[in-house]
Amino acid sequence: MRCFNCYEFSLTTFCASCKKELLEYSLGIRELEGKFKVYYFYQYDDIKHLLYSKHKFYGYFILNALAKLSFSKFKDFFQPHCFINAIALDDKTYGAYSHTAILTRYLKTKFIKPMFNTLQAKSDIKYSGKTLEFRKTNKRLYELKKIPKYPVILVDDVVTTGLSLLQAKAILEKNNIEVLFALVLANAKE
Ligand SMILES: [Zn+2]
Repeated sequence: MRCFNCYEFSLTTFCASCKKELLEYSLGIRELEGKFKVYYFYQYDDIKHLLYSKHKFYGYFILNALAKLSFSKFKDFFQPHCFINAIALDDKTYGAYSHTAILTRYLKTKFIKPMFNTLQAKSDIKYSGKTLEFRKTNKRLYELKKIPKYPVILVDDVVTTGLSLLQAKAILEKNNIEVLFALVLANAKE
């Protein structure tokens, strides 16, 4: 078996030196409309060769390995002293598994409670490769399927324009739920 990052021989998803490299992140921060903060672990360009695999059978292993290096370490940056819900954005499974659900699962601590099948997009519009204009005029319009008990962290795999996150935040706030910030694997600034 080979390392999915450098293709050298490795018994694990990432070899030791790639694992070390992938652990050398500092949590990045991006501010969206209304000063809503999005924290991210990687720049999209640095890991896109790994994310391209997400529709292939081994994507599941790569995403789990990446989540273990990033999302599971989020407790080193953020230690809440009250309960918080982490919500996977649109974790309907299009293939065999949901990317956002995998990431969200790794946030679980004593105080952070992941929630699944909570926010689902009503429309099946695909945003990938579309212009900002297209995204703005074709809103996803999320449906809130469960009401979280606690303030919320939103989880997505990639932030591009941030419109999906802002739409998700808006629907939660309409239901009087506090949204603290968003956490994503990678930042792909346009
Ligand atoms: Zn490697």
